Amino acid sequence: MERAPNEIEALIAQIARLPGLGPRSARRLVLHLIQRRDQSLRPLLAALDRVAQSAQTCSACGNISTLPVCEICTAPKRATGEICVVEDVADLWAMERGGVFVGRYHVLGGTLSALDAVGPEELRIPELVARVQAEGAREVILALAATVDGQTTAHYIADALAGLDVQVTALAQGVPMGGELDYLDDGTIGAALRARKAV
Ligand SMILES: [Zn+2]
Repeated sequence: MERAPNEIEALIAQIARLPGLGPRSARRLVLHLIQRRDQSLRPLLAALDRVAQSAQTCSACGNISTLPVCEICTAPKRATGEICVVEDVADLWAMERGGVFVGRYHVLGGTLSALDAVGPEELRIPELVARVQAEGAREVILALAATVDGQTTAHYIADALAGLDVQVTALAQGVPMGGELDYLDDGTIGAALRARKAV
């Protein structure tokens, strides 16, 4: 294959490192953008710049949006008294795509891991306990992976909330062993949510 000029080659290499892309699709994408400079490349550049300026972590739930407190946390109709605990933002977005959960979220930012020395303070678990008290939540729904670390984290959270007047539940079977929420299809998430059970 003939080599593109250096700067274009460097761009292709950079895009090829993005998740879900490889050298072939990166090359095709870059060529597409260059050939449609005004319709594709410049609008994409502007959109990337806007997001680079404004993307931030929600101070309440840990979601990523363009506001200090995200749209989910500020929508009055999402104040259902239910808080769904997820490992990361990708899981939150997967739940939202499913459109089956109408409460609010809490992003942990990982799971407890003895191996990687991840403790409760690094996971926004103290913030969860504080939120449950401050918001008077009725139910905390754990949507964590069916891995050892995911289940260790679930039990730790259930213990941390044990003294409070809140029900702790977990998504039912449907989260595949070692599977991450992001890979579940929308129907599966809905079924796992409806059939959730007490921890
Ligand atoms: Zn939020």
